[in-house]
Amino acid sequence: MNELKRITVFCGSSNNVDQKYFKAVEELGAVLAEKNIEVIYGGGNVGLMGALARTVLKHGGRVTGIIPRKIYDNVSHIELSDLIIVETMHERKAKMYESGDAFLALPGGIGTLEELTEIFTWYQLEYHNKPIGLLNTKGYYDPFYRMLEHMVEEGFLHNRYMEPLLTEESPKQLVENIRSHSVPLMNKWKQDDIGDRI
Ligand code: AMP
Repeated sequence: MNELKRITVFCGSSNNVDQKYFKAVEELGAVLAEKNIEVIYGGGNVGLMGALARTVLKHGGRVTGIIPRKIYDNVSHIELSDLIIVETMHERKAKMYESGDAFLALPGGIGTLEELTEIFTWYQLEYHNKPIGLLNTKGYYDPFYRMLEHMVEEGFLHNRYMEPLLTEESPKQLVENIRSHSVPLMNKWKQDDIGDRI
């Protein structure tokens, strides 16, 4: 079992999405609060970001937002357990990445995809060995997963780097899977079968 006290969540900021996505996020928020797992996220009040933060708080959980000043000055806010205002996006991402014991990508747009692929890249470069969960509501991440499998088939991604990824439609089950999934630390530079890249 992994110690799972804080989870860093990436998620969409759009409000124009199917209610099923909001429902799943509300279910997830309730589970996280119930299990006393603090949420670290981008500090927004819109889309699934806002829905998650409000639900966790409503159920008595803790939510920390990490937001660059430029965004903070332009958006409406939720009263969070803690809000960290930073100067740049890079600072925000570094703080978000180091704060969680695991990562969780909910359905989202390019912002979410960027954070997800960055943290996945950092795994193969041995910057962390934290589980990365994908909340697969309505099969949202199926095309992304197919792309990864295509990368593996074509030799651009080694299967072993898929290790931290967990896909699951049920929010409760996803949190359980993250808890029990131990991820080996990779060392790309010492792998013999991809020596051609060094
Ligand atoms: P997207 O997945 O394209 O909707 O982008 C989500 C990401 O964009 C979040 O993880 C945040 O980094 C950022 N973002 C977009 N809108 C906001 C907002 N209103 N407040 C805070 N962050 C936001």
